[in-house]
Amino acid sequence: KSTLMKALKNVPSSMVDGRPISLVANISEAADMDQVFENGGEGVGLLRSELLFMGRDSFPGEEEQFDFYKKVALKSQNKPVTIRTIDIGGDKQLHYFGLPQEQNPFLGYRAIRISLDRKDLFIVQLKAILRANVFGDLRIMFPMISNVQEIREAKKVLEAAKVELINEGTAFNPDIQVGIMIEIPSAAVMADILAKEVDFFSIGTNDLVQYTLAVDRMNEKVSALYDPFNPGVLRLISNVIEQGHKHNIHIAMCGELASDPLATLLLIGMGLKEFSMSAVSIPFIKNIIINSSFSEAREVYLKVNEMSDSDEIKAYLKTLLPI
Ligand code: PEP
Ligand code: MG
Repeated sequence: KSTLMKALKNVPSSMVDGRPISLVANISEAADMDQVFENGGEGVGLLRSELLFMGRDSFPGEEEQFDFYKKVALKSQNKPVTIRTIDIGGDKQLHYFGLPQEQNPFLGYRAIRISLDRKDLFIVQLKAILRANVFGDLRIMFPMISNVQEIREAKKVLEAAKVELINEGTAFNPDIQVGIMIEIPSAAVMADILAKEVDFFSIGTNDLVQYTLAVDRMNEKVSALYDPFNPGVLRLISNVIEQGHKHNIHIAMCGELASDPLATLLLIGMGLKEFSMSAVSIPFIKNIIINSSFSEAREVYLKVNEMSDSDEIKAYLKTLLPI
């Protein structure tokens, strides 16, 4: 395992025919950066910012948040780091925030919905990120976007954060890419429209699968139905990649499917060029990439596209794996 890691660390992640595929990491704190580079990661595709808000008694203020993001930026070797704004609610609770008990927490008050409802808290996070952007190449990503208005409203808060920083005379870097998670089916269907509003998409398959198939991602009773290879899910993913590229924005995937070796060639065949995953998975996915060609991947996608049964799809994809 660690031999593969060492052997591939400095090998560029390109296919046999030269197509580059970017492999980046999902992290939760600055200390995780070391592992990212040890495994040959080229940056961070998803910094889940929740850890900063958990295991404490009150919201961290702007200085504390700034210190956290600055630490990440300083460790990033100037590689891109995508910071997702707070994604609490659903399975992630904050005891001091007093979120109400809900019948359907995954369909309820969570993520960007909380941020847009509590702009007083949201602006603090955005100001801290803008300030830390002086020390690295940070990007901002909004979770759980379901429509175009939420993007526009969130971007307004980002502009208000810049105005506040200017008025205070605080140093910051306003030049920051803004993207969204595609993890709600309406966003995947409307990818062509949403692409006009942002610099990038990151496909969050963990939630996208849950919402598309109406299968609670935490409920073991229905876990057999939780299937990223369901052709309905695959069609949505393929639409996001196609429409995103048609509108010239950057498309990544940061859900668990990005680290599933069964899916690698299929996703590349759909056109995906950036995969974000836990750092330890990077060498395994890189090993598939450097031993395959884009034309092979294209063929895999075209074949799967003809299939209607996910068992058939998975059985076929298994035949492609090195034994
Ligand atoms: C996702 O939904 O795929 C995702 C990456 O976010 P999280 O797992 O944090 O909900
Ligand atoms: Mg999610």
